Amino acid sequence: MDAGRAAVFLDRDGVLNHPVIRDGKPYPPQSVGDLSIYVDAAGALHALKKAGFVLVVVTNQPDVARGTQRIEAIEAINDSIRAALPVDSILVCYHDDREGCACRKPKPGLLLDAAKRHALALDRSFMVGDRWRDVEAGRAAGVRTILIKRDYFERSSHLPPNAVVSSIADAADWIIRESNAEESTRA
Ligand SMILES: [Mg+2]
Ligand SMILES: [Zn+2]
Repeated sequence: MDAGRAAVFLDRDGVLNHPVIRDGKPYPPQSVGDLSIYVDAAGALHALKKAGFVLVVVTNQPDVARGTQRIEAIEAINDSIRAALPVDSILVCYHDDREGCACRKPKPGLLLDAAKRHALALDRSFMVGDRWRDVEAGRAAGVRTILIKRDYFERSSHLPPNAVVSSIADAADWIIRESNAEESTRA
């Protein structure tokens, strides 16, 4: 077992806040005015904090590389999320596929950076997401993965998630149950 603290990695759009849906596809909010946090997100995150998890948001924001969004607008949205929810840090990939970075999910770079920075135990950690990129990034980092299935879910990940749920509240419940079960087998 790794030393260090257990974390819950959280995707942002479609997990903490409603995506903006256009033509049946999810997009990030463009500004703080577009930001709408799910009603059950605060309760879920407070329960995870109380259970001892470090909460790390890991989000792809490729519109910066595509030239259709400014970093400042994304940072303003992230500040609003920090003000509303008990997250410990928010890590962002601003790149698109062609830049070949190590951080754009499904690559695990953001999770591995956070693990180093916060001395996390990945074998006791979890990733919650709403798309295949989140599940595969979590698998690549060696954490357990929870998919929140929303209406727009476009395709399956190559590797299945450990659980499929329908809300952030259900994801938090599953994680707390799973890690309590693990504690009792270790005790
Ligand atoms: Mg998402
Ligand atoms: Zn990147």
